[in-house]
Amino acid sequence: MKQIYYKSTRGNGVEVTAAEAIARGLCSDGGLFVPTSIPKLAIELKELMHMNYKQLALTIMKEFLTDYEEDELKSCIHKAYDKKFDTTIIAPLVKQGQSYFLELYHGPTLAFKDMALSILPYLLKIAVKKLNNNKEMIILTATSGDTGKAALEGFANVDGTKIIVFFPEQGVSEIQKRQMVTQTGDNTFVIGINGNFDDAQDGVKQMLTNKDLLKRLDDKSSMFSSANSINIGRLIPQVVYYFYAYTQLCNRGDIKIGEEINFSVPTGNFGDILAGYYAKKMGLPIKKLICASNENKVLFDFINTGIYDKVRDFVITMSPSMDILISSNLERLLYAISGQDSVVIKNLMEQLNKNGKYEINSTMKSELGDFFGGYATEAETSNAITEVYKNTNYVMDTHTAVSYVAYQKYLGQTKDATKTVIVSTASPYKFTPDVMKSIDAKYTGLNDFELIKELSKITNIDIPAGIVDLEKRPVLHKTVCAKNEMQKQIEKILKL
Ligand SMILES: *Cc1c(COP(=O)(O)O)cnc(C)c1O
Repeated sequence: MKQIYYKSTRGNGVEVTAAEAIARGLCSDGGLFVPTSIPKLAIELKELMHMNYKQLALTIMKEFLTDYEEDELKSCIHKAYDKKFDTTIIAPLVKQGQSYFLELYHGPTLAFKDMALSILPYLLKIAVKKLNNNKEMIILTATSGDTGKAALEGFANVDGTKIIVFFPEQGVSEIQKRQMVTQTGDNTFVIGINGNFDDAQDGVKQMLTNKDLLKRLDDKSSMFSSANSINIGRLIPQVVYYFYAYTQLCNRGDIKIGEEINFSVPTGNFGDILAGYYAKKMGLPIKKLICASNENKVLFDFINTGIYDKVRDFVITMSPSMDILISSNLERLLYAISGQDSVVIKNLMEQLNKNGKYEINSTMKSELGDFFGGYATEAETSNAITEVYKNTNYVMDTHTAVSYVAYQKYLGQTKDATKTVIVSTASPYKFTPDVMKSIDAKYTGLNDFELIKELSKITNIDIPAGIVDLEKRPVLHKTVCAKNEMQKQIEKILKL
């Protein structure tokens, strides 16, 4: 098997193992770790068809994590994808009307972040062992709402780790916030910031590359890592479910092996859809990756013009996990489409930092054909929830609705009859006010916990275990800080 190493998108080409890339999270030069090449699927597609999720996960992940023993990976996978998920299928593909939904929200925190964050702690533990350092891992995490809880669940009470989460105090749903601030576990820390997700992510990136801070941390025999999708250990497990959607479509008899399909992906930090791009590069027959944005449509504009411009109003929408103007993982795509040119990437990222915008050259533009940019306004998102519920009784969450709308627009513009999977990233239970209001105006004014009960009634589905007693759980985390005080908080927690 070909060994895969990892290097910085902005760096001088120094290569490290997957274990080191996962342990470090972010490169010291501020770039992101990327595989030296995307491995090709080692076996034929037809051999994947009978595999369950765990078998498929092993098949895909071992191609990327070549310094992990097969037994190590197997043990990670078995511990991750177990009864925490409410279905043994883990990521079911369901058909409603003419649409296919890949439901990635059956994990403990009801959002797709569980797909990767239920395995990342185990991958990280092995990485630390491999690197032979007994340092305490401090997991810094910025969240737009869903990563935070999934990371807390994954790392709570894991020996040798502390997990610290920053979330936008005003920018997450009530359920998302409750899930985080009620987190138990002595090694968990949750802090609201008076700022948005971009501020939180920027603060985390600055700390991960702050030499003085890193030195003080090292003196205490600790090191930082990250549970954000800037960590390559988040992305690789996400490649798996693209293949899994495909095998489910084949096994239903709805496509033939080898036939191309599209995916419509609700996008924020560009992590999920990048995993789809990696799946395509591995050999999965994907025609288009529809990049779905909400009103923070910086990616829609980028795909259509080649100009990335974050200088615009930040909109708080009903799909808060996608309220992002700086999509970190786009840097990994830029690196791929520039022919792995770290000088070009460094330059673009400096422009972004300095001027808030950049434009890619025409060669890179011509490489964007794998993607279609679509977006949904708030009204379109809400109408989509209404319409799908009326026609099929199926309840989409607000993020899934954005990808549904983007696909409808794609279909309208292209008339492309290729089978398309709508990636469904969260349970409607996390965003009940907007979901229920869209279904019927009579729900306006009820609180989140009343709405959870109403949603259970109309769907005949039990309230998921992850939130069933949320209302009664005590609030354990109350700290809120200014956006420029994140480092102070860390110094306080870690006594630096
Ligand atoms: C995180 C998240 C997204 C966006 O995923 P990215 O990988 O950041 O693009 C979409 N929907 C939900 C529900 C999420 O939690």
